[in-house]
Amino acid sequence: MKATSDVVVVGAGPYGLSVAAHLNACGVKVRIFGETMSFWDRHMPMGMCLRSPWEASQLSNPGGSLTIDAFQAATGQPVSRPIPIKRFVEYGRWFQSHAVPNLEQRKVAQIERESAGFRVALADGEVVQCGRVVIAGGIAPFAVKPKQFTGLPRELASHSSEQVDLTRFRGQKVVVIGGGQSALESAALLHECQADVELMVRESALEWTWQRPWLHTFRPIGVVLYAWPDVGPAFISHAVARPNLYRMLPRSVQDSWRIKSIRANGVGWLKPRLRDVNISTGLAVLAAAARGNQVELKLSDGSHGLVDHVLMATGYRIDVRKYEFLAASLRSSLRLIDGYPILGRGLESSVPGLHFLGAPAVYSYGPLMRFVAGADFAAREVAATVASARRTVGQQIAHPLREPSTVSAHRISEEA
Ligand SMILES: Cc1cc2nc3c(=O)[nH]c(=O)nc-3n(C[C@H](O)[C@H](O)[C@H](O)COP(=O)(O)OP(=O)(O)OC[C@H]3O[C@@H](n4cnc5c(N)ncnc54)[C@H](O)[C@@H]3O)c2cc1C
Repeated sequence: MKATSDVVVVGAGPYGLSVAAHLNACGVKVRIFGETMSFWDRHMPMGMCLRSPWEASQLSNPGGSLTIDAFQAATGQPVSRPIPIKRFVEYGRWFQSHAVPNLEQRKVAQIERESAGFRVALADGEVVQCGRVVIAGGIAPFAVKPKQFTGLPRELASHSSEQVDLTRFRGQKVVVIGGGQSALESAALLHECQADVELMVRESALEWTWQRPWLHTFRPIGVVLYAWPDVGPAFISHAVARPNLYRMLPRSVQDSWRIKSIRANGVGWLKPRLRDVNISTGLAVLAAAARGNQVELKLSDGSHGLVDHVLMATGYRIDVRKYEFLAASLRSSLRLIDGYPILGRGLESSVPGLHFLGAPAVYSYGPLMRFVAGADFAAREVAATVASARRTVGQQIAHPLREPSTVSAHRISEEA
């Protein structure tokens, strides 16, 4: 016999945990699958600190009681600023134990549509039937590796998401590719663990944010320039902080502000840690080949060099078709733009009852969805949609009968 549930949540990072906390409080039957904070624990470098400020790094539960401040008070151990990743993972686990005790640390193997909703098959063989599925599966499958490094073994060239303990590169010559926070912080960490590191940036100069923290924090000025949670440039941040407003803006404005808000840059507090790091700007790798235990790089200035390792801090490109757990039939029925699902109210996709949270929601709801700070909005929207469907349909969360609101979807496809 198959198990049934009203809603299944896939993912136990900031978005999955937050939405499950809100759904648990709605009185619906929720099953949530995933490993608590696994991306932060196993796909980011040890010793890293969060780029997002304190207020923008909170998970969300109804009533907002499970904050990092509450975590500090409950554990009696202060959390420093910027927030160390180790403490953030501990905070996520503490949050989960309080708000999402029903989390099952199990892997979802396949999600298929069926007449009464969805069929969710777990890797261990159990099958769950449900009316709605909320995908909060994160960005791990979307890691971008430039084609120059295709064919090189992982020992010689790896994506930043594949390295946790950078101390293994002590004494080695490492080139870090990229100009965003991940590249800059990896270069700083490598330098601090005595690797011979070079940061190679294609752009002609590095970009920084939070260079003058008082512009963000000094009340009369800060609140005019930047809305909490401080995602995006001055003024634009006010629209980014309001995703339901953001999605009403003309598509061209949304696209331009999205690019400005999530473009590669580093947070000001990293600058002193990079003082002694060799940084090459305006330089790109044209080709790379294995030479024994090393990699030979052919660079855009005509030079060649031998290094022990190339670390690609080259970011992520969203394409939800890369979520292997989505059945092929489901993937093909999703309306997508550049790999992003088109989402209507409640972050619901063109497949009724299927919701996407986190980075895949950026195209429809703006850059806030790329950060932890968007979890509160997303969790509340999904919970409100589920609660309203429950009121309409009765106690059972039946498969939604109508297509979700696709007003903006029409506009997007016309303008794309
Ligand atoms: C180096 C780096 C630094 C960052 N720093 C910040 C920062 O300081 N502040 C900030 O706001 N954002 C930061 N981000 C962005 C950050 O990744 C997102 O904000 C955040 O992880 C989004 O949370 P999520 O819940 O969507 O996904 P994730 O945290 O990635 O969680 C995904 C979840 O899905 C689960 N999962 C995946 N597949 C399955 C499956 N088949 N079955 C079951 N479960 C599954 C995983 O186990 C995991 O629990 C950073 C990103 C990177 C790469």
